[in-house]
Amino acid sequence: MKLLFEESKPGRTSVIFPELDVAAAPSLPGPFRRRVLPLPDLTESQVIRHYTELSRRNLGVDNAFYPLGSCTMKYNPRIHETAVRHPAFRDAHPLLPEKMTQGSLKLMHRLQTALAVLTGMDAVTCAPAAGAHGELAGLMMIKAWFAFRGEERDEILAPDSSHGTNPASAAMCGFKLVTVKSGSDGRLDCEDLKPHITPRTAGLMLTNPNTLGIFEHNIVDISDLIHAAGGLLYGDGANANAVLGHALFSAMGYDIVHLNLHKTFATPHGGGGPGAGPLAVREHLAPFLPAPVVIKEGDHYRLTRPSQSIGRIRTFAGNFGVLVRAYAYISSLGQSGLAQASETAVLNAAYLKARLKDHFHLQYATPTLHEFVIDDSGIPNGVTAMDIAKRLLDYGFHPPTIAFPLIVRGALMIEPTETETKETLDAFADALIAIKKEAAQTPQLVKTAPHTTPVKRLDEVLAARRPDLAYPWKPD
Ligand SMILES: *Cc1c(COP(=O)(O)O)cnc(C)c1O
Repeated sequence: MKLLFEESKPGRTSVIFPELDVAAAPSLPGPFRRRVLPLPDLTESQVIRHYTELSRRNLGVDNAFYPLGSCTMKYNPRIHETAVRHPAFRDAHPLLPEKMTQGSLKLMHRLQTALAVLTGMDAVTCAPAAGAHGELAGLMMIKAWFAFRGEERDEILAPDSSHGTNPASAAMCGFKLVTVKSGSDGRLDCEDLKPHITPRTAGLMLTNPNTLGIFEHNIVDISDLIHAAGGLLYGDGANANAVLGHALFSAMGYDIVHLNLHKTFATPHGGGGPGAGPLAVREHLAPFLPAPVVIKEGDHYRLTRPSQSIGRIRTFAGNFGVLVRAYAYISSLGQSGLAQASETAVLNAAYLKARLKDHFHLQYATPTLHEFVIDDSGIPNGVTAMDIAKRLLDYGFHPPTIAFPLIVRGALMIEPTETETKETLDAFADALIAIKKEAAQTPQLVKTAPHTTPVKRLDEVLAARRPDLAYPWKPD
């Protein structure tokens, strides 16, 4: 496939501008741009065909099953896109005065309330732009909470199964990370936790259900241990798709939790697109929330700064489009619909696990919820999780997450979500079982996969170290 630059022929155009009816601005070069950009000259159909062809080379949730564990890659109903594209939401400028954005503020306020109900928490901000951003803001709040109380605490605990963003956020926030071991059942080991709790412990970050898809059923004991030592419990709510309408983070003893709207609440994600990681907190932490928070006074909605706020963590009030989608999704399903979505997500994962458990090794026998982790031990001829993932592309499936969580060697982490049919789950299980058979009979076929994709096996290390970014324009 050619680059657009290679297809360019001088004089071709996709747009015909009307005659200029004002004085022409002074032409380039100006103070910043030293030369005219050599943009390609193309017809509209060339551009459309180019990008359509590129999109057909991609594997996404619109053309294939996408069981990427820890990511909740569900199919997102298009109806919510209609809400986001409503001109009143789409065209609202963030600098408009409050009296002109009452509708948008009302939506944000309602979303805050809905997320407070779904988590059981007391106050919510929708400002953070991603899960990791929510983590960072949450940890800054924890820091501010102890500073306000005059306590010096600089350690954050997290289990060895935690998502990489947890230790990264703790480090970015200036905390010392203390890793707690998982037990043989895949849950946080309370006995290993106890000696790690000290007067320097600011808090524990714990995902529930955890990254193995296992519910931390000792969560109330864990919460008691942390609170008895004066620490706070931070919830990574990225896996909320497993428990919505079934378990409240407040009842588990969490002080603060982030949700990933782009996972659980209907914004398609991947490719670095916008997300949102709202924070929901118990009453004692509400004064520390980042600004702004939407409040309602009589019939009027207002953006405010909480009294002990850690301040702004981004421009304006959040990734508004993501908030509109989440509100549309929550409103269209309602609380019982959300609970049903979680049940179906868990059921789909349980079904897939049951179909695979006699064919693939499972490190933990513990029952799981919305996702589960198989691994490549016992796969013949040294075929690895990576090989299996690549071969799945030939079968038309996006691979599951591999090599995570770190405590499982050769992990394949599978999260089917609630939006897939039994036929799709069966076809995926059949493909994995067929690949295992190929590993025994024609291992080379699996080790050199994929064979049917536009791009074959890449050397990941080389791709990162020496990226090949073809671009015909050589700057002076
Ligand atoms: C995705 C994820 C995060 C990070 O969320 P982002 O929105 O990608 O920043 C944190 N924890 C867990 C368990 C996750 O799955």
